[in-house]
Amino acid sequence: MLTTTLDGFNAHNLGLVDPWDQTLLQAAQGQALAQTLAYARTHSPWYGQHLAAIDTQKINSLQDLAQLPLMDSQDVIDHGPQMLCVSQSKIKRVMTLHTSGSTGAPKRLYFTDHDLQRTKDFFFQGMGNLVDNSDRVLALLPFDQPDNTGDLLIGSLNAHSIFCAGLWPPISPPDLATFIIKENFTAVVGLPQHLLSLAEFLPPGQVQTMLLCSDYAPQALRQRIEQTCGCRTFLHYGTTETGLGGGVECQAHAGCHWRQADLIIEIIDAHSGQVLPEGQLGEMVITTLNREAMPLIRYRTGDTAALATAPCSCGGYTARIVNIAGRQKIYTLAPGLNLTSQLLDDTIFSVPGLWDYRATLDCHQGQQRLSLDFLASPTNQPLSQDLGHALQQIPVLVQALNSGQLILGPLGQVPAFDPSHTIKRTINDQRGA
Ligand SMILES: [Zn+2]
Repeated sequence: MLTTTLDGFNAHNLGLVDPWDQTLLQAAQGQALAQTLAYARTHSPWYGQHLAAIDTQKINSLQDLAQLPLMDSQDVIDHGPQMLCVSQSKIKRVMTLHTSGSTGAPKRLYFTDHDLQRTKDFFFQGMGNLVDNSDRVLALLPFDQPDNTGDLLIGSLNAHSIFCAGLWPPISPPDLATFIIKENFTAVVGLPQHLLSLAEFLPPGQVQTMLLCSDYAPQALRQRIEQTCGCRTFLHYGTTETGLGGGVECQAHAGCHWRQADLIIEIIDAHSGQVLPEGQLGEMVITTLNREAMPLIRYRTGDTAALATAPCSCGGYTARIVNIAGRQKIYTLAPGLNLTSQLLDDTIFSVPGLWDYRATLDCHQGQQRLSLDFLASPTNQPLSQDLGHALQQIPVLVQALNSGQLILGPLGQVPAFDPSHTIKRTINDQRGA
């Protein structure tokens, strides 16, 4: 079994030499943190003020980090340009995220050439866990804009003589499988639901590895992909804030080893803001290291996960993010009865033949109602009944249905969802409409 390829990436970029371990790595992160604080404070007007009350010279280990204030999405929306540490002429790429906040103002993150190159280095090293230069890789990701995820991935692999091509938006699953066979692709990177429908049409052995990214990937979905086409699935975690790349699984599949040379990750209690002990689930907070354009210092991601810093069973020392559940938006059905889209995903994706779905909560004749539109394999019997049974296995829904606080609405098959849809799966909440 391969040790995670991220060990080499992190050790090299933090200046560590063999032998090293997680303790030495965290000490090196502490030094990089001190540099980041000094850099942000002197180069960015916003950080100059934000950190004014802190003696940053006393912050040089991960334990000291909790003394710094937290920041969030709204800070970036309101003050992004003042967070810049370089002149506009050094900005290579601005990534704009449209938020649903009260003002509706977009969130913009800025990257220099150096920042993007670090992401490309991470992509290449991370992909080393699942491909080598005998592979042909298909990126089912947007790649039409310079420096978006697909473009950076393709560029990073091609620069190291690994063939990688892009296709976006995805074509129909049977056509996609035909294309993959014709072009002899052996690895595919894409959204979990796109890879699930594709798997059904691939002959076993054609595609050996798949990297699932950009959305929550429930275990049931991964198992169905692996059993259907005989490939191995790997997870990637990343957001625009982490520089698109964040962490990737090794062959032990025991969590995503993350780019510790570029990121410090803390897990906090979302309510109190207190740092949680290792292993506990909470909100991920990131601090960027060596980010040139726009450092983020204790930035709340809104995503839920836990940390593991003990050596991995692959033999790697790089720490891991485990139990990644993404943004767990809570929909309260009744006092104490909370639903999340991840709860639905865990059950619904275990239904054979189900490819993808969209859930809606609304009010119908005075009653709270949950409905589904879904996409299913044409080879299956109609799935409405199976889906209805699956929904009634979810304890929160059972309680809400039995107590009359929820009814099930139509579970309707649709021919397609917008193929370019990249917004993470959420529940469409129309109850206030
Ligand atoms: Zn590992």
